[in-house]
Amino acid sequence: MEKLAVIVPCYNEEAVITESYRRTKAALSKVEYVTEIIYINDGSRDKTREMLNKIAAQDPSVKVIHFSRNFGHQPAVTAGVNNCDADCAIIIDADMQDPPELIPELVKTMVDQQANVVYCVRKSREGESSFKRFTARMFYRTINRMAEVSFPLDTGDFRLIDRAVMNEFNKLKERGKYIRGLISWLGFKQVPFYYHREARIAGETKYPFSKMLKFASNAIFYFSKKPLKLAITLGFLAFLVGIILGVWSTLGKMFGFSNATSGWTSILITIIFFGGVQLLTVGVLGQYIGILFDEVKERPEYIIESKKNFD
Ligand code: UDP
Ligand code: MG
Repeated sequence: MEKLAVIVPCYNEEAVITESYRRTKAALSKVEYVTEIIYINDGSRDKTREMLNKIAAQDPSVKVIHFSRNFGHQPAVTAGVNNCDADCAIIIDADMQDPPELIPELVKTMVDQQANVVYCVRKSREGESSFKRFTARMFYRTINRMAEVSFPLDTGDFRLIDRAVMNEFNKLKERGKYIRGLISWLGFKQVPFYYHREARIAGETKYPFSKMLKFASNAIFYFSKKPLKLAITLGFLAFLVGIILGVWSTLGKMFGFSNATSGWTSILITIIFFGGVQLLTVGVLGQYIGILFDEVKERPEYIIESKKNFD
């Protein structure tokens, strides 16, 4: 029989682990696969570690990976895929915002449509602030405009992927992984599955604004070279403005209609404007250099401290 794995990244999720395990197990009992759950404890500082170890001690179909510290959501999912030997896998959050009850339908969709990827599109989002919903909406539309490939809108990492996709994913060497984008980029047959994203069952979001910002900028800088083109556009614009100002002040001096000598306001504005343009473009360059710096170091994306039930 084929094997289905469920990959669940967990960071300080003591409030949801028990319920998450119960509901996922119940959903898995409805599919005709050998099943397993792979929990990745992303350096939690609460009871997540003990709770996962306890579940793994009682249930041999539960595998646990403990990171040596908090590496982040994307490295945690990556570790899950890297350590998965199943024929297909579902990536799902621990907080039940993506209901595990949908698992049988996802599997059915994959089989019926002979798809390699079934990605879950959020028709609605419950229990999230209007700020989160607004920024998420803007983010998916911006990245789509900027990236060289097109991504499905309002789609997170919640999805079903098969062995072929996992094998290709495991070959990707970049460290700053924007997983939902990379899986789209891989190609194969990908089909959507529409669902309502629910509210977190307990606990708080583990994605504060700073992590959201890092996530979004990673996605943009890894998938788009458009910010670099911004430098050329701004440079060209500045060049045009310079020529117009030059002609205007020369003619103004000759025919006496400009305030070229008395106008310190115009000088001040020009200096601030071009200073700003230069800093902005140097900043954009800096982002890419920073990424190159991180990538050439070739540090691993995550460090595994220990594993349970992996033999
Ligand atoms: N997560 C993680 N490491 C982190 C942050 C989050 O493994 O550094 C996990 C978290 O436990 C959850 C999933 O990633 O299972 C999504 O996080 P969360 O629900 O807090 O994000 P939100 O849904 O609010 O965007
Ligand atoms: Mg969540």
